[in-house]
Amino acid sequence: MSTYLLYGGIEGGGTKFICAVGRRPDEIVDEIRFPTTTPQETLERVCSFFTPYVREARIKSIGLGSFGPVDVDPASPTYGYITTTPKPNWANTNILGILQKELGVPIAMDMDVAASAMGEFIWGANQSQDPSMYLTVGTGIGGSYILNGKPLRGLVSLEMGHVRIPHDEKLDSFKGSCPYHGDCFEGLASGPAIQARFGKRGESLADGDPFWELEAGYIAYAVANYILTLPPKKIVLGGGVMRKDFLYGRIRSRLYGILNKYLNHPLLTSQLDKYIVPPALGDRSGVLGAIALAIELDK
Ligand code: ZN
Repeated sequence: MSTYLLYGGIEGGGTKFICAVGRRPDEIVDEIRFPTTTPQETLERVCSFFTPYVREARIKSIGLGSFGPVDVDPASPTYGYITTTPKPNWANTNILGILQKELGVPIAMDMDVAASAMGEFIWGANQSQDPSMYLTVGTGIGGSYILNGKPLRGLVSLEMGHVRIPHDEKLDSFKGSCPYHGDCFEGLASGPAIQARFGKRGESLADGDPFWELEAGYIAYAVANYILTLPPKKIVLGGGVMRKDFLYGRIRSRLYGILNKYLNHPLLTSQLDKYIVPPALGDRSGVLGAIALAIELDK
């Protein structure tokens, strides 16, 4: 057992940062949140929050789940950088290097969605489900796949939001909002795609709007592709768009139709309500998952 008792977690989002010190969801001793401004100002606030804990040697390690794209390949010269983000001032920011130099404790870094996936795997709805998956549908669409207790990494980062799904232009004439692919999954179904379609945010679109049936279908098609290629044991769907909680039932029902009983497992036929679920940690998956990344680093 470590003689240090606490871990740090940073949820580094494009609009806000949340920093916490603790060990598990019911043992958070300190927490702060503030808007994401310039890298210098934002990272200074992160450091001044953690510095007293570091100075008293109360923190063993810190986990950072960052908005991206981020370079998470330890062999790469730009490891720990936020790379090509359109967010002003943040492209090519060595976020990991700056924090490690200022704070002097080991820091584990991954993409924000990977931290959320770890949070749900260690303490949330995906506990003991390995492999399992977390998908966020919000400002962007991204997924992380937990395999052998860790977020899966490959040649590049997982980009589950950019898969192709059927787009019937007779039902939905929107061309898509992804600057790279037009009508990929994120281009059709993310928060900004909804905003571009209707000129208003998804949350102000009526629950009875026929669009939500299209949205449920897009999510179900993508989820079917993940199930067919990766068969996770359970899938958590989070993110701002999923606050329209009637979507869960509609996604399950569309998924049932798409899979068409081809995969013969009760979770995929009669128990989809146990298979496609909301995050148990709510909007705390990210910061708690960052603490989980810190604990993993300490093992
Ligand atoms: Zn795309």
